[in-house]
Amino acid sequence: MENHSGNTDTEKYRDKIATVDEHGRRIWIYPKKPKGYFYNLRTYVSWGLLAILFGLPFIKVNGEPLVLLNVLERNLILFGIHFTPQDFHLFVFAMLTLIVFIVLFTVIFGRLFCGWVCPQTIFMEMVFRKIEYWIEGDANAQRRLNKAPWTKEKIFKKVSKHLFFVLISILIAHTFLSYIVGVDQVQEIISQSPMTNLGGFMAMVIFTAAFYFVFSRLREQVCTTICPYGRLQGVLTDKNTILVSYDFIRGEPRGKIRKKEIPAPTVSTGDCVDCTLCVQVCPTGIDIRDGVQLECVNCTACMDACDAVMDKIGRQKGLIRYDSLNGIESKRKSIFTPRVLAYTAVLLILMVSNIAMLGSRSDLEAVILRTPGMLFQKVDENHISNLYNFQIYNKTNRSLEVLLKLKSADGELKMVGKSPVVSPTSMSEGAFFIEMNRSGLKGRKNKVIVQIYAGEKLMDEVSTNFFGPG
Ligand code: SF4
Ligand code: SF4
Repeated sequence: MENHSGNTDTEKYRDKIATVDEHGRRIWIYPKKPKGYFYNLRTYVSWGLLAILFGLPFIKVNGEPLVLLNVLERNLILFGIHFTPQDFHLFVFAMLTLIVFIVLFTVIFGRLFCGWVCPQTIFMEMVFRKIEYWIEGDANAQRRLNKAPWTKEKIFKKVSKHLFFVLISILIAHTFLSYIVGVDQVQEIISQSPMTNLGGFMAMVIFTAAFYFVFSRLREQVCTTICPYGRLQGVLTDKNTILVSYDFIRGEPRGKIRKKEIPAPTVSTGDCVDCTLCVQVCPTGIDIRDGVQLECVNCTACMDACDAVMDKIGRQKGLIRYDSLNGIESKRKSIFTPRVLAYTAVLLILMVSNIAMLGSRSDLEAVILRTPGMLFQKVDENHISNLYNFQIYNKTNRSLEVLLKLKSADGELKMVGKSPVVSPTSMSEGAFFIEMNRSGLKGRKNKVIVQIYAGEKLMDEVSTNFFGPG
């Protein structure tokens, strides 16, 4: 097998993980601090995303959180809309749409999401790693510090770094919990003694410990070996997928140049001067010049590093850039392949269906069933009645006084007991009779429609059967 550089047996790098040595021990990665155009851009994007992530739980609409993902109590609020278990079909559809979107996006842009949007990368590279650089210095200084004996300076640096890590982990854990139980409940948990709310306190401790472990120890292992999205890359990407790629046609044969040769000569060697800076900045420890690899999180650090080198030696930037294998080989980018068009069509159908289903979603939902084991009752010579059971779900955050009416002039709906008042996001059940004029019946089985009102507003209509003597 040959790789991009034309070397034989170079697929060997696929036999091992860059972060594990031959004895199966972890190789700790010390990525050199990245700098450059893409890193700056990613920093600004991460500020925006972090502001949204930390700010969203505090935003309320009419006293209700804008977003609440309380899966434990089956209470979901998305952009002010309450979703109850009765909306499960909407949830399934939305998930399906999301999966197709992810697939389509990955087919075209690979792991772009990982580098720019994924919370793991954003927290790791833009928060925790920056604190590490600030306290311990760049890669070489970190290496030296780790090998150094435990002096006062080392203890101070290590303790302060881990103190920051714990504090940020606490902040993330509280935010995470705010999405699940709401910011008010989190504030309540914080203000009480741990023993008053032991469950909430323990949840905070466990989440804090998990985040601290992920960002202080596990790090790139999440992206390279644990994340299922990362593992899917092999089946989703193809030769037309835009990825962070090394232009092996321009770069090879690679060769070192001496300082006095700058600007670099344009003969004999390719544009890669084998400075290995692209490898040194990589947070997953890979060499992008070997070719596309599962471990690459598209963080752009190698693009910035190589652009800086190209600038210095007077060669064109973009030796490592966003491009597809076909783009590099043929200099043509082809995004709209048949596979992409097929995914897009499915995605559009799913999106339109989602919007239509959301648009037709009612704040009240009723289930009406004829009482089992009862056919019909004769009220008098001219009237027949049927007994029904109902369940009414209130999906709003306010109590609703519900009125049931029959949509037919030939009969009447009579409640057993009072009309229900349904509490917010709750269900109420009961029974009612429908009494029909015999003259209005067209046979044994008749279709009738029950209307459900909240005050004056018609909220739902349910069709059911009315049985007569025939
Ligand atoms: S940074 Fe650019 S020039 Fe240096 S080794 Fe990597 S690809 Fe080659
Ligand atoms: S190869 Fe480049 S883009 Fe991929 S993870 Fe490493 S530095 Fe980031």
